[in-house]
Amino acid sequence: MSDFDYDLLVLGAGPGGYTAAFRAADLGQRVALVERYPALGGVCLNVGCIPSKALLHTANVIEEVSLMEQHGVSFGDPSIDIDKLRNFKDKVVDKLSSGLASMAKQRKVEVLQGSGCFAGPHEIVIESDHGQQQLTFKNAIIAVGSQSLELGQHAVGRSQADGTRPAPWNWKKFRIVCWSSAAASLAWKWLVFTRRWAAKSR
Ligand SMILES: Cc1cc2nc3c(=O)[nH]c(=O)nc-3n(C[C@H](O)[C@H](O)[C@H](O)COP(=O)(O)OP(=O)(O)OC[C@H]3O[C@@H](n4cnc5c(N)ncnc54)[C@H](O)[C@@H]3O)c2cc1C
Repeated sequence: MSDFDYDLLVLGAGPGGYTAAFRAADLGQRVALVERYPALGGVCLNVGCIPSKALLHTANVIEEVSLMEQHGVSFGDPSIDIDKLRNFKDKVVDKLSSGLASMAKQRKVEVLQGSGCFAGPHEIVIESDHGQQQLTFKNAIIAVGSQSLELGQHAVGRSQADGTRPAPWNWKKFRIVCWSSAAASLAWKWLVFTRRWAAKSR
C-alpha cells in the first residue's frame, strides 16, 4: 500500500492535463486531476480551439454565400441573432466538456475542483469555495497552460479579449493585434460578423 493519497497528481485539466491523467489511469495509476474551473478541457475546449471553430464555420459560410453574388446568386444580407449563435457555440462546448467528465469517471480519475498550490515535493493544497483540501502524491504533472500577455499601450482602453467569451467592449470599436494562428482565426471571425452587423445597422 502506497504512503501517498495518489500515485499521480495532474494540475490543470486542459488538453495537456486530461490526456496525461487518462493515460496514467489506463496504465493502472491512482490519479487526481485538479482544475480551478468547474468545466474540464482548459482553454482549448472552453474558450479556444473548439468554440472558435464553431464560430469560424458560421463566418466561413457567410463569406462563401456572399461570394455567390459573382455567380449571379444572391441571398441578401444575413440576419445574425448573436444570442442564438452563442447558444449554439455553448452547446458544442458543454457537450464535449461533459464527455470529458464521463471519460474521467469511467477511468476512476478523481476530478477535484479548486486552485492548486504545491506545499512540498509530494503535497498540494487545493483551495475552492468549499474550503481547503490537502493531498499527497508520489508524482506530479504540471499542466497549467499559459496566460495571455497584457497589451498595455497597444490595447484600446484597458479591455482585452483572449478567447471566444463575449468581448468586454463595444464590438464595433476594437483593435486586433495578431501574432498567432489562434489570434488570426479570432480576427477573421470578428471581421466577418462585425462587417455584417455594420451593414445591417446602417
Ligand atoms: C481562440 C483560440 C483558438 C485556438 N485554436 C487552436 C487550434 O485550432 N489548434 C490548436 O492546436 N490550438 C489552438 N489554440 C491553443 C490551445 O487552446 C492551447 O494550445 C491549449 O489549450 C494548451 O493546452 P494546455 O493543457 O497546455 O493548457 P490550457 O488549455 O491553458 O489548460 C490549463 C488548465 O490549467 C488550469 N489551471 C491553471 N493553473 C491552475 C491551478 N493553480 N490550479 C488548478 N488549475 C489550474 C487552467 O484553468 C486550465 O484549465 C487556440 C487558443 C485560442 C485562445
